[in-house]
Amino acid sequence: MNLRKKLLILSSVFMLSFPYQAFAYKVVVDAGHGGSDPGAIGVNGLQEKDVTLDIAQRLRDDLARSGYEVAMTRTDDRYISLADRVAFTNQQNADLFVSVHANSINNSKTNGTMVLYYDKDYPQEDYPASEEMKIMTPYSKDLAQKVLNSLVTAAGTKNLGLVPSAVYVARMGKIPSILVETAFLSSYTDSALLADPSIRPLWRNTLRKESKPTLLLSSPTRSDIGPGKRS
Ligand SMILES: [Zn+2]
Repeated sequence: MNLRKKLLILSSVFMLSFPYQAFAYKVVVDAGHGGSDPGAIGVNGLQEKDVTLDIAQRLRDDLARSGYEVAMTRTDDRYISLADRVAFTNQQNADLFVSVHANSINNSKTNGTMVLYYDKDYPQEDYPASEEMKIMTPYSKDLAQKVLNSLVTAAGTKNLGLVPSAVYVARMGKIPSILVETAFLSSYTDSALLADPSIRPLWRNTLRKESKPTLLLSSPTRSDIGPGKRS
């Protein structure tokens, strides 16, 4: 038996014993909007599509350095439909999906961070979720809570809580998924934060830090996602 074969067998035994080793993880990082869809426009002129791409790329680099496999839905300024983002994610055989966004509302005084996820306890009739995503609810919620807590602590933004949501990318996939509304581009204080290059690393550090323990502690087991438990 040559060394390469031995290593292959060794590594597969290792992975069976420790199925949640970081190196086994693959994360899909989704930079919201892009191309003809700029997303929200900040009171300071910042475009959401640029903020999300910048944070997503920094997050990708950090995750990769930590031993994660990372797939990006986009790496430049281009339009990708929501359906294509989910289809891409489903092809990746990944473990986690994180969509990065910045918020906007018709009130410059509203600011803060919120994290959206699909929750089977708050179904929306007109927007049915995939069967897999219903099962993923506790995992998505756990990840959402950890990322939210950490983001508001690190960046000093207001905690606007978790939002059970029927947003497409968090509802139609097959793996634990969250959509992070980092801060409000419509707010003077938040948009200044989003424009601050010294703050952006905070967003990505938090996402990276919080992705790991969640995956290690509470990733769904095979039986959670196997056919026997699908309702
Ligand atoms: Zn957005």
